[in-house]
Amino acid sequence: MIRKTRSNISQNEQLLFEMSSPGKLGYQLPDLDVPAVDAGEALGAENVRDEVADFPEVSEVETLRHFSRLSTWNYGIDLGMFPLGSCTMKYNPRINEAVAKIDGLAWAHPYQPESLSQGVMEIIAALECSLAEIFGMDAVTLQPAAGAHGEFTGIMLVRSYLEAQGNARKTVLVPDSAHGTNPATAAMAGYQIRNIQSNSQGMVDVGALEALMDDSVAALMITNPNTVGVFEENIAQICAVMHAKGAQVYMDGANMNALVGIARPGDFGVDVMHSNLHKTFSTPHGGGGPGAGAVAVRSHLEPFLPKPRVRKNADGAWTWDYNRPQSIGHVKAFYGNFGVIVRALAYILAHGGVGLKNATLDALLNANYIRKILEPYYQIAYPAPSMHECVFSDSRQAAKGVKTGDIAKRLIDYGFHPYTVSFPMIVHGALMIEPTETEPLQELDLFCDALISISKEIDENPELVLKAPHLSRTPRVDEVQAARKPVVRWQKPQG
Ligand SMILES: *Cc1c(COP(=O)(O)O)cnc(C)c1O
Repeated sequence: MIRKTRSNISQNEQLLFEMSSPGKLGYQLPDLDVPAVDAGEALGAENVRDEVADFPEVSEVETLRHFSRLSTWNYGIDLGMFPLGSCTMKYNPRINEAVAKIDGLAWAHPYQPESLSQGVMEIIAALECSLAEIFGMDAVTLQPAAGAHGEFTGIMLVRSYLEAQGNARKTVLVPDSAHGTNPATAAMAGYQIRNIQSNSQGMVDVGALEALMDDSVAALMITNPNTVGVFEENIAQICAVMHAKGAQVYMDGANMNALVGIARPGDFGVDVMHSNLHKTFSTPHGGGGPGAGAVAVRSHLEPFLPKPRVRKNADGAWTWDYNRPQSIGHVKAFYGNFGVIVRALAYILAHGGVGLKNATLDALLNANYIRKILEPYYQIAYPAPSMHECVFSDSRQAAKGVKTGDIAKRLIDYGFHPYTVSFPMIVHGALMIEPTETEPLQELDLFCDALISISKEIDENPELVLKAPHLSRTPRVDEVQAARKPVVRWQKPQG
């Protein structure tokens, strides 16, 4: 089998500041043949300077090569597998990018009048409708800009709903297997958090939940599949326990690619949920670009959704409805990150119902394939079946002095981006692996082969792993110093 090798042009790269020498120019222009504008007059003298101190002076070819070389230092989904658990770093079909670039969509402006925005509004309405169907919910807002923002919106909806009934209540229950943003969200919305412990299967202990339930509880925030990659099998019963005491169930569905086409949160009793369009529905992420945390609700929460809402007039034209007295208001300027919305709809329509379900089945298959192959070498965290990701612990390797972080660093030498290290926190020394549905079998085999090989290295020569990476441009960095004393700004050498 072919092992991956690294093929970077291994030239050490100077900073542009270091390449600079006085008088070099990156462009050549003919002399002006129109009267020059006086910059001071046009912009105000105080806004104009003659020179920027230490501004790098480099030629065009140097600049181009510098950035081209830097671009080869990156690891990205276009180069290989990105097994970062809880992140769904999957390959997204290029056709969705092409659709998002169509002029009328890419150049649409939020201040365009409704009469010129009918197509754009129809796309928003169509995606709301598709997601409502996929989630089994009654209404969707696309306004929130990210997953955590969707959570915040969702819990504000719960608060407003309970307030309208006379009592916003005090606490939100959060299982220890929830994503870290869940308790943070509840705290931001003014709730106290109560933690629920998982049982030996990595699931919420229904008995423990019942014991904590009283009428001060506003909601349960549950991540499903949870952060150990396990589906909460008692979810319907959990919802019933909450509803019996008048509380709401919030589901963090960031990772809906384990469920789409197979199970619908609305069908098992969830009142409100979000899903990350930038994980499951085809927007690339990981570079901090725009995302969208679509929030879906059952009908009793619909009046509280952010405004405006898109709706159809009697004459069949789309319009923005601002007249929503119970709405929590805007959670973002305008209508959401529209480019993300376009990609998600293109992805859903291109796949269709059968295609979406197959994507889910492939995500589950890939994760379980990796689990089965690696189980003889690494300790699986929970015996319960895995969904779209599998979580191991480093317990066997730690006995020989090698930890999850070391194994991840060694994986870089094999040409892979590391998996998620030491998360979720309830698994000591976690290796969290999410292959996603888009990885071909050969890539999965290479990945497993690398991890098996590393486990053998740990038996024979642990130092090799402890000092990794060896083949990367930068050797192992001092992570403590890098976090405590980061050097993020170039300073001209003295003297
Ligand atoms: C990624 C993720 C989030 C947060 O989403 P952001 O878009 O990063 O805010 C929340 N919950 C789960 C389960 C996630 O995987």
